Amino acid sequence: MEEFLDRFPGRSDAERSWLKEVFGFVKHQLGSAPDASLTEEAALDLSVSLLRRIEEIHNTCTLPLSYRLLSVSELVARQKVACVSNLSWSTNQHKAWVKEAESQQAHHKALPRVHLLLIGYLRAGRAGELRLTDASGDVTCECVSPSPQWLGQPVFLPHWNYIPHNAPHMGLVELIGSPVLLSPCQGLAVHPGGAELSKADGVKEAAARLLTRCQGVRVQLCGVVCSVSPVLEVSDSTFFILILKDPQNSQTLPVLVQETSCLWWSQCVFVDQCVYVTVLRVCVVRGWKGNRLLCATSKSKLHILPHALSPHTHTTHTPNTLSPHTHATNTHTQDTETHTLSPHAQTPEQHTDTQTLSLQTHTPQQQNTETFTQPLDATEQKVEPNVIIQSGVRMKRSKVISYQGVVTEVLSEEAGLYMIDGEVGLCLAHQPPRRRGLRTGDHLQIHGVHFLYQPCPDLPPSMLCVCLRSTLRVTTFSPLATPEPGSPGPLSLPRLLLKQDVGVSQYLWISHVTKQLRCSLVPRWLKANTVCAVAWRILQLLFKRTEGGRRRDIYTEILEDPHTCPLSQYTADPLVCEYVCVRECLSALESQCGSGASLRSLLLPGGASLSKAQLNQRLAWSHSARPGTRTRPPTPHQDQAGPQKDQSGPGPTRGQRPLVLVGVLELPGQTDAAHTSLHTHTSPHTLQLRDGSGRVACVVTEPHEDRQRAVFNSAWIGCLVCVKRVTMVTEQFLQSDFPSYTHLEQDGYITHKHYRSYLQFCSSDVHILSPSVAMATHLQAERAKRGEEEEREEKRVKLDGEEEERLPSSCQHPCVSVVMRVEQKEGLSWRNTGAEREEAGLTLSFQVRAELIGPALKWGKDPKNSLVTGAEMDSHVTKVQVVYQSRAVRWFPVLHSNCLYRIVVSNTQDTSLLSGKVAPWQSKVELHTDPALQVGSDWTFHTLALPNLLHSQCLSPNLMSVSELLDSSSAEMVWFQGVLSERISLLENTNTGHAHSDVGEGLKLRLTMCDQSGRSVHVYLDLSRAPYPPGLLPGNTLLLSAFQRRLSRSGGVYCNSLPVSCVTVSQLGDSSPPQPSTPLVHLMDWMQPGEKRCIVGQVKGHVVCVLYLQLTWSCSLCDSTFIQSRCSSPQCYSTTAVFQSTAKIIMEDGTGEAQVWFSCPLVRLLLGLADSQWEELQRALRVRGRIRVYSRGRGLVCEEDSDCLLQYLSSLCSSSTVCRSLTLTCRARAHTQQAEGEARRFTRGETDFMTRMLLPLQLTCTHIEADS
Ligand SMILES: [Zn+2]
Ligand SMILES: [Zn+2]
Repeated sequence: MEEFLDRFPGRSDAERSWLKEVFGFVKHQLGSAPDASLTEEAALDLSVSLLRRIEEIHNTCTLPLSYRLLSVSELVARQKVACVSNLSWSTNQHKAWVKEAESQQAHHKALPRVHLLLIGYLRAGRAGELRLTDASGDVTCECVSPSPQWLGQPVFLPHWNYIPHNAPHMGLVELIGSPVLLSPCQGLAVHPGGAELSKADGVKEAAARLLTRCQGVRVQLCGVVCSVSPVLEVSDSTFFILILKDPQNSQTLPVLVQETSCLWWSQCVFVDQCVYVTVLRVCVVRGWKGNRLLCATSKSKLHILPHALSPHTHTTHTPNTLSPHTHATNTHTQDTETHTLSPHAQTPEQHTDTQTLSLQTHTPQQQNTETFTQPLDATEQKVEPNVIIQSGVRMKRSKVISYQGVVTEVLSEEAGLYMIDGEVGLCLAHQPPRRRGLRTGDHLQIHGVHFLYQPCPDLPPSMLCVCLRSTLRVTTFSPLATPEPGSPGPLSLPRLLLKQDVGVSQYLWISHVTKQLRCSLVPRWLKANTVCAVAWRILQLLFKRTEGGRRRDIYTEILEDPHTCPLSQYTADPLVCEYVCVRECLSALESQCGSGASLRSLLLPGGASLSKAQLNQRLAWSHSARPGTRTRPPTPHQDQAGPQKDQSGPGPTRGQRPLVLVGVLELPGQTDAAHTSLHTHTSPHTLQLRDGSGRVACVVTEPHEDRQRAVFNSAWIGCLVCVKRVTMVTEQFLQSDFPSYTHLEQDGYITHKHYRSYLQFCSSDVHILSPSVAMATHLQAERAKRGEEEEREEKRVKLDGEEEERLPSSCQHPCVSVVMRVEQKEGLSWRNTGAEREEAGLTLSFQVRAELIGPALKWGKDPKNSLVTGAEMDSHVTKVQVVYQSRAVRWFPVLHSNCLYRIVVSNTQDTSLLSGKVAPWQSKVELHTDPALQVGSDWTFHTLALPNLLHSQCLSPNLMSVSELLDSSSAEMVWFQGVLSERISLLENTNTGHAHSDVGEGLKLRLTMCDQSGRSVHVYLDLSRAPYPPGLLPGNTLLLSAFQRRLSRSGGVYCNSLPVSCVTVSQLGDSSPPQPSTPLVHLMDWMQPGEKRCIVGQVKGHVVCVLYLQLTWSCSLCDSTFIQSRCSSPQCYSTTAVFQSTAKIIMEDGTGEAQVWFSCPLVRLLLGLADSQWEELQRALRVRGRIRVYSRGRGLVCEEDSDCLLQYLSSLCSSSTVCRSLTLTCRARAHTQQAEGEARRFTRGETDFMTRMLLPLQLTCTHIEADS
């Protein structure tokens, strides 16, 4: 000790005690490290050497007292955050470094600095990794470019990062720059001299030796590295393959390195380095077509040669861009390449280099096709484009390139997905997992990587994917502290690649979906370790056939020329399904509506001629229903940046990607039913699809025979499902005050705007990812019924036995149940139920008229929806009114007429609850109805399969079609079904002052219902006391129950809703229904009374004459004539006018005659005028405001003075331009009484004649076909 201190004379006490500590530390940690023993003298030498180095690096004459030496075990145990230590930095240098590091990556902090020093021995680990070892333990050590000479040497680390690992006692030292070797005596390994090198074989000679097989021959090989495979562990053997090439002729030769002592070479060799490997033997690889290659032996040595030393000096490759800036001093002479890399120094010239290098194909040097970079040489590409269609799937070929860049984002560590340079994706999944995960800020150099363009629209269009032949090297460790990655699953995603033969495009897709699912479903609905299995299940559902994944053959992939691997070909489907969470889905729904342009499109055709009142009424309600698709897929970073930005450059191909939703089906408002209807996106009428991001109402139907029906099995509740084909619906309610069509762009006229967004789908498009207990029971029963044991089905439902874990097994409670058949369900409404708790008196409620079949039973455990037992069904039937209030209202979407349910009340054994006795609130009044059953808030209803004996009873006898309704003479209360063809909001009742009123509530609607015959009926629906029902959309089939059938004064039939009326969506219309081909009708047939009235038909005929034509500029506010830009009404100060026109003609088709009415946009077509002529006519009419022309006798007259405009119009109307053959689509005008005719009086001389004349057939033209 004294001897040691004597070497450093003139030190202060503090320094002396620091020195003592250092000496003690070195002696202990280096002296008693495994496989090392130090004499006192050697310890002294090492300590002195260490201090000299420290002084040198610290660069002041004082000792760095703020630093302390730290043992490896202490580092691993104590250091919980990532950090950096650099002895050479002054405070200012450190500040500059922080600034520089943080400026490169937004939102990232530089690693915090610590004042710690590390010493130890560098040793090779089991799988070829470097480990820093001292007496206390060892730690993995990563180095940018280690040298073979460091191994086993005592070293001092002046500059390093430490990255702790999630797992305890794990961590990683990132060595920045070279370590300082402490024992110079052994340190300077001499490079092989010229003489020795001259004995070495070049690649070409060695390749020749492989062919002439000689036992026991040892080869010394010298060549340029062209590929380094990752270290692979395959069935107990660990190895990597190094491919060397001849710099002159690009011939390549693989070297298999399997010797444990040589595995760490994989760290030292880089592409384009010149290496000299000794004592190689020839061996045969069984797995690889019996081919022979060179193999490292235990005596083999690796020497990295400076390019100048190479016997085959050539260098077509310039050494890679590395900074000459070094901190550490290194005593032994090496190529600059192996020296320290500064993380921040990047010279301008390097920068340009990086850019030009980016994304260029690795240029093949010679025309020799043997190099691996040339599977796609120029000639091949010319002949064959990169896209191949393989059995209907678009396959692309990838290019093999080299790339260097900086990691800018870790997309998914689990899936091995990263972003480089902010625009290029990197996928590492096809290589074994790396010891050190990449961090944001790492500089990378990748050789032989596959470049894929748009393999998956959810990821950046440019993707780099490494295979076993690719060489990835981190050239600079990131200076940034990245957030600790969440603990990834047990690498289940990459395992999919191995097990399931998933193609790369599908792998990328599933990785993206896994990440999304993790956000939206974990931990509430899914366990973290099952996400991957769920994503895999979705993939199987959506992709009929999995992409042609092949079994991977490691040797072929690494060794074969030309190179092929699973990444050589890939599918590129820009319209692959897109997974969205509920929140994204809702925002997509709302973005559909709103703008002035979209308002304009709502008013087509003929919007320009609408008066103010008509215009605003038309805008009051509108809807958009379209298949769930999204046009522009946002890339992952756009996702994070918030709103979607416009992608410039070669964006993904435009088109519609179908959306896929995953969530749990729930009853509406399971938490708070009374107020659900106030929530924008839920409705007590519908089920909900829910995930962690939100919930959305769903109108669901069930397939039934070849149609759909409204029934929805309660077993769906709680199932985790994937919905494949949805219709996204947004209903828009607008209170507006637009004076005219021209003002639509001005949002100021909108006084209130409100949306309702929901989804529509059929349960056949819903796929169960994880069933509820009830669904599992249901499916089992279904299978039992079919008498089939479909093993495949079984597998489909079970998902790693996970359903038991997901659902609480709370069915062990006693309960009572009764079976109920619903006869009729009433509509939901706010009723004054007299419930004592509700002060306001209005409660959301509905009632069901039902039969209780059999007695109430006690159960030891919840029977849920299990098969009905004999004891439950006896002939004793009790009719009851089942009353649902407040929270119980949530069962509304589950209950349907003619279905069987089991009511379960748990935690009780009191069967009298279900006996149908008088409810307490009814006891005060005298009872004339059936007894009532008030549903408790914790009761559950389970849909039961319909036993056969009941089936006949359950066919509804009185459900009518629209035609039957029209023809029926007796019915007062009606149940009928039809297709909604038109829906109009009746404005007068928008504000009822109701406590729950909202736009969209308190509405009165007029629905036009029709059936296949084309006959229709108007239904007036009063929603002022009811929550708003979604799904009342044109095209949907509705089931209307308990409506009142009425006759109008003119004898027409219409229906009114009653407080008990209920509307149910029973079949979803196509979102874009094909126009039904209207039948060609003879006018004579049309005039027949009865049957064929109300029909829409096509008429082919001739225009006989124009009976009437009116063109008007009318005030948009008061409908008065608008003359010379002023309203003619004295009280009106309106400045906006609309141009309106009507015409009536006589049409004749050889079988009969009809009067046909035309309105605005069709009048122009009838008159055969061009747009410009039409506008000219409008201008000419400005002066007088109105012109009316009608026929008298054979000519046309005008009520005002004859002028040129009149003359023009009358000659036009009698010309062959108008009186021509036409094909029209017409609708009979409502409420005309052709059948009865009209009594008319004629006078001839003195005599009066009374006669009943048939009125001419009155039609309204809806469409003019091209002239026939
Ligand atoms: Zn490959
Ligand atoms: Zn006016």
